[in-house]
Amino acid sequence: MSKQEMFKDRNISEDYFFLDIEDYPTTPWEKFKRVVKRSLKGELFVGLWVVLREMIKFDIHTVQYPEEKLPIGPRYRAVHEMKRLWESGTERCIGCGLCEKICISKCIRIETRYDENQRKEVGEYSINLGRCIYCGYCAEVCPELAITHGGEYENASEQREHFILYEDMLTPIDDVLNKKQREFQGFGAITPHEDERLKKTPLAY
Ligand code: SF4
Ligand code: SF4
Repeated sequence: MSKQEMFKDRNISEDYFFLDIEDYPTTPWEKFKRVVKRSLKGELFVGLWVVLREMIKFDIHTVQYPEEKLPIGPRYRAVHEMKRLWESGTERCIGCGLCEKICISKCIRIETRYDENQRKEVGEYSINLGRCIYCGYCAEVCPELAITHGGEYENASEQREHFILYEDMLTPIDDVLNKKQREFQGFGAITPHEDERLKKTPLAY
């Protein structure tokens, strides 16, 4: 058979078969019989057996929250933390306001003032967690690595507006003295191997 004839040969009936189409049931008894026949198939009992088998094993993988909690990633972006300097324990935030400017949800509010030495200090700082989308921009833009994201994700509130204040986010001074301040836990903090990744300025230009 030439290719032209093969192309035109549409007789592929060997792969086709006729369906045994039953007559549509008309009486209630015939309808009932058809429902039973279509419902009770072997697959149903296979599925039931799989469920029963897993129940008998008692190998339950459900996490019993809140008693049990799964570990979260070190870069998880949850409620913010404000860090202190390791050396002196003073607050890292210099009140530059970059985090407030970059926040796309407009949920950061910062007020600064001059202290007795005419140095700028943070007067009030709050984040409306009800608006925050945890994008991490504030942590990324912070030049002092002062604001980072922490791992505290249980911050549900009864109200849409839910503020967290600077004092609540700030690392307690005792934690810095006892070396408990988590440096790499939040988004925006330096990585432990940052010194290795640092490149010297090339002198070729
Ligand atoms: S995580 Fe994003 S939305 Fe939340 S305070 Fe920071 S910049 Fe604003
Ligand atoms: S948290 Fe960082 S970016 Fe925001 S005001 Fe303080 S130093 Fe500036």
